[in-house]
Amino acid sequence: MSKPNFSGYSIEELLDCKRNVDKERWPERYQEILDELALRLEDPSRKAVHDELVFTAFCEELRDDLTIAIDDNLWPIITFFSKRLRRSVPSTFLDEVCPICAGELNITQRFSSWNIACETCDMSYSLRERRSYF
Ligand SMILES: [Zn+2]
Repeated sequence: MSKPNFSGYSIEELLDCKRNVDKERWPERYQEILDELALRLEDPSRKAVHDELVFTAFCEELRDDLTIAIDDNLWPIITFFSKRLRRSVPSTFLDEVCPICAGELNITQRFSSWNIACETCDMSYSLRERRSYF
């Protein structure tokens, strides 16, 4: 496998590599990706793009977990019958922190959407549950 030249990669491509590279097997390559990302993040407008991508990817991953958790727990049916439970948060969201600042996330539910927000980073993302039970 020839060594990729990360300097020509976009932030999106670098993030993709970072997610997919085998850290154990290619520690130098992983470090190169981190270094290359760090270089780009010195530019505030690029950092904003990066943060947005990271936050979005993080939320989309949560969506997959959430779909499974909801299937397992029959969450919408339970919440439909319980006002108290309706205000609580599925286990998917417990212990999750902001992927950018590692701060606490503010998670709220409105109808069948979940809003995931970090006040520190001024980010928010709305997830719709994939399935509709009603
Ligand atoms: Zn944050």
